[in-house]
Amino acid sequence: MEENVIKDSNKIVIKIGSSTITSEDGVVNKEFIDNLAIQVKELIDQGKQVVIVSSGARIAGVSTLGRWSRKEDVNYKQALCAIGQVELMDSYRIIFGKYGTHVAQILLTREDFNSDNRTLNIRNTLFTLLDEKVIPIVNENDTVCVEEIKIGDNDMLAAQTTVLWNADLLLILSDIDGIYDKSPVEHKDAKLIELVEDVHELENKISIGKSSSFGTGGIHTKLEAAKLVTKYGIKMMVANGKKENIIEKLANGEERGTVFKP
Ligand code: ADP
Repeated sequence: MEENVIKDSNKIVIKIGSSTITSEDGVVNKEFIDNLAIQVKELIDQGKQVVIVSSGARIAGVSTLGRWSRKEDVNYKQALCAIGQVELMDSYRIIFGKYGTHVAQILLTREDFNSDNRTLNIRNTLFTLLDEKVIPIVNENDTVCVEEIKIGDNDMLAAQTTVLWNADLLLILSDIDGIYDKSPVEHKDAKLIELVEDVHELENKISIGKSSSFGTGGIHTKLEAAKLVTKYGIKMMVANGKKENIIEKLANGEERGTVFKP
């Protein structure tokens, strides 16, 4: 039987990019969160465990406050994240709650992963929440760290969380079907790469265009994330979170993305 990364994985980290959680008009896409909640519930009912890493605090901050959207000053961006994080978690809490699922907020910085004491604490909290079937929702703590605002878009934070939890799969949901040989926005003939066995080799083969309007990390940080998780023997997949029931469709082979093999 052909292997299927979703079906074959029990511990799954799902990373939601800014472009995925945002509607065209720049507000948090509640329908997306609703569809995600249904699919995560299904995974839990199948006996799997799920950790979510979600971007979108800044966009939620802009739409809540109705100003500062054009401020480039990093302090304003941090302030927007502080405002929007509440809004974002509120959406997750209300929508996941409709399906009887509790969520918990975990705010981390990349430095937290360098400390044994902190990683132990993070691990203990994660395990306790998951044992109780509560879904941890991780985001960067932008008050103390500005990496995500500047470049990361949580791809690396998701990869570090995946390694720390020793998950089976990091599923990155973006606004694109996967990694292409060139930017699909700029080139109509771009081809989707379905399987990557060597990230370094892929890096030399493809050309990377600009990231989408709400995204920040683009493809570079996704490849860096793939390097980290595959080094630890963990699979990664990039797929299109804009498509309805994407996780279910990936599981039954109706949709495809890019799989990175360890
Ligand atoms: P996210 O917010 O999900 O992290 P980004 O917007 O930062 O996503 O990155 C995804 C975007 O990168 C895609 O929408 C696409 O426009 C762009 N892109 C550029 N080059 C490529 C490529 N070679 N393959 C796939 N996407 C690419």
